[in-house]
Amino acid sequence: MDRGLIVVAFGGNAFQSKTDKGTVDDYWRNANLAAEIILKLVEEGYRVIVTHGNGPQVGLIAEWMTLGFKYKSIPPMSLDIAGAMSQGWLGYILQQAIYNKLVEKNLLPSRVKGVVTLITQTLVRKDDPDFQNPSKYIGPWYDKNEAEKLALEYGWIFKPDPRGGFRRVVPSPDPITQIELNAVKILVDNGFIVIADGGGGVPVIRDNNKLTGIEGVIDKDLGAERLASALGADVLLILTDVDCAYLNYGKPDAKPLRELSVKEAIKYYEEGHFKPGSMGPKILAGIRFVLSGGKLAVIAHLKQAIEALHGEAGTRIRPG
Ligand code: ADP
Ligand code: MG
Repeated sequence: MDRGLIVVAFGGNAFQSKTDKGTVDDYWRNANLAAEIILKLVEEGYRVIVTHGNGPQVGLIAEWMTLGFKYKSIPPMSLDIAGAMSQGWLGYILQQAIYNKLVEKNLLPSRVKGVVTLITQTLVRKDDPDFQNPSKYIGPWYDKNEAEKLALEYGWIFKPDPRGGFRRVVPSPDPITQIELNAVKILVDNGFIVIADGGGGVPVIRDNNKLTGIEGVIDKDLGAERLASALGADVLLILTDVDCAYLNYGKPDAKPLRELSVKEAIKYYEEGHFKPGSMGPKILAGIRFVLSGGKLAVIAHLKQAIEALHGEAGTRIRPG
C-alpha cells in the first residue's frame, strides 16, 4: 500500500523543549519520540522525507564558537558552516533513532531500505530583503540584561521572543530551491527515509555558476515547502509545540483554525494573524505548498501528528 510521499518538518522543540536543559539525554529522548511518529507514518504506508528546525542548535554552535574564540583563540566558523554542523548533529541523532525503531519493528530492509541524512544547500537571492532586516530567532533565550550585554559585546541583534525572553535574530532569506534535490529524490524513490534540508538548508548564493555559503538561517518551514513542492509530495506535515493555528492568538477571543481552504488561509495570513518567524512561515509554507499542487498541508502539535493527519487535530490547509 502506497499512501504517497510525505514531508515531515519537526520544530526545534522536537529536540529541546523550552523546559529541557538540552543535555545529550534530552536529545535522544526527544529524537525517540520523533522516530515513533516516523514509524507510524511508515506503517500507514507513506514514503517519508524528514526535515527539522535548527534555531536553538545553530545558535548554540555559534555560542560555543564565540566562547572558544574568547578563551582559546580558536577561530570561529561562519553561520553557514554552523548550519551544516547542525544538519549533521540532528541528522545523526534522528537517523539512528529511526533506524533503531525500524529494526525493532522488523521493517528494515523489508519495508524501508535504510535511513540517511544529507547535508543540503538551499539557494537564496543575494539581494534578499531579510539581509537588511534580520527576522530569524536562533539560540537560547536570555533576559533583557544579558541580551543587552551580548549585543554590546558581539554586535548581535536581539528581539523579544513571542514565547518570552529575548533571542538573537539573524537574516532569514527566502529559499528558492535545494541544490541536492535530485539526490533526495533518487534515495526516497528507492525506498530510503531521507533526512534533508535540516534548518531549511545551508543558505548559498550563486554567482557565475559558483555556490558560496552566506551568513543566515533559512526558515525550515519555508525550506520544507520548497522540497515538498519540488518533489510533488502529497502531504506537508509541520509539527510544532502548539495544537493548531489560531485567529487572535493569545487573546481572550482566540479561535482555533481547523479546516482551511487555501483561499481562507491567504485571507487570514494577509490580515496578520500569524506572527512572523513562528506561525507566519508555517501558514505561508502551507499556502505555497497547496498553490504549487500539494493536496494537504497540516500544522499540528508534535504529540498529535497522526490525529492531525487523519483530520482529528491541527490546522489543515487544502485546495479551494
Ligand atoms: P517551531 O520550532 O516548531 O518552528 P515556532 O516557535 O517557530 O516553533 O512556532 C510555533 C509558535 O508560534 C507557537 O509556540 C506560538 O507561540 C506561535 N504563534 C504565533 N502566532 C500564532 C498563531 N496565530 N496561532 C498559533 N501559534 C502562534
Ligand atoms: Mg519556527
